[in-house]
Amino acid sequence: MDRTVLHVDMNNFYASVELLTRPDLADKPVIVGGDEAKRHGIVLAKNNLAKSYGVKTAETLYQALQKCPGAVVLPAQHDKYRHYSVWAKLLYREYSDRVESFGPDEAWIDVTELNRSGAALAHEIQNRVKSELGLPVSIGVSWNKTFAKMGSDYKKPEGITVIGRENYKDLLWPLPVGRLLFVGRVTAQRLTQIGIETVGELARQEPEDLRYILGKNADRLIYSARGEDRSPVLTAEEMGHQKSIGAMHTTDHDVRDPEDIRKLLWDLSGRVAERAVRAGLKGRTVSITVRYQDFSQHSRQRSTAYLMQDQGSIFEQAWILFEAGVSENLTKQGVRLLGVSLEQLEDETLPQQVSLADWAKCYTSE
Ligand SMILES: [Mg+2]
Repeated sequence: MDRTVLHVDMNNFYASVELLTRPDLADKPVIVGGDEAKRHGIVLAKNNLAKSYGVKTAETLYQALQKCPGAVVLPAQHDKYRHYSVWAKLLYREYSDRVESFGPDEAWIDVTELNRSGAALAHEIQNRVKSELGLPVSIGVSWNKTFAKMGSDYKKPEGITVIGRENYKDLLWPLPVGRLLFVGRVTAQRLTQIGIETVGELARQEPEDLRYILGKNADRLIYSARGEDRSPVLTAEEMGHQKSIGAMHTTDHDVRDPEDIRKLLWDLSGRVAERAVRAGLKGRTVSITVRYQDFSQHSRQRSTAYLMQDQGSIFEQAWILFEAGVSENLTKQGVRLLGVSLEQLEDETLPQQVSLADWAKCYTSE
């Protein structure tokens, strides 16, 4: 029997949380930024209106404000987002033990055992998150995690999309191959270059033929595109423990432009986030490693009061570290290796640290 898997995605999560206490900003472009006191603060989230001006996550506030001078920039309040994140997952846990976080604002819920219509459950959960937390979510419903995730992406904000065996080829196969879960930008480019432009075209390939591009991920990606992702929605207990999760990049030339470094750090943060998500872990410390052309190497680390798992939060710390310690050396020496890692890991899927007092405090803080 097919499983019933939901994927719930909170729409414009940080910005939506901010708008709860700032309804006056509902019709204005809103950007949630890193450290706004800093000249090089970055965009962590934006609402749809800011998006329509071309504002992108991870660009500098300076770049964003060039495109959208009227945007209201709000500082990020991670403790507050975390409370909403945990509260939403508590709500999902009323439906199943199998609630697997995928970043602060996304989760899969395996509701097979409830024996109810996935679409009806999706409507119920969407309504409850809206009325109990005040936040908009979109939900995908399918028999596997990959398609459920693509379903929640299909119609935003506040969409509900059922991806069934009768319609997945119509709805998902025409999409660009980069929309498939875990196909990153570089992989999508390489697939497109050899003529595989859509999810459906990838589904029709044989893993052996694409091993030279996709490596060991060839099977997983192709089977996922075919609707054969059998990975279970993990319970918190099933998620493992590790000491740190890292990613690094070695360049074949000296990198001196801070803009190039920023992009590399963003990509590395994304890889770390993806691994953290897959392992079901979050961390309090980010460290970066920089090696210069003379092979001297520097590591710096920075801890936060909140747990990080998403690309934006990890990148924010990595960029602060880079700015604080490394950028002035760039004019003297180019960078040859960059690494980002997440440490002090904890299983954050269990809502152990939330008390009502914390919740009340969070709810009233501005
Ligand atoms: Mg979201």
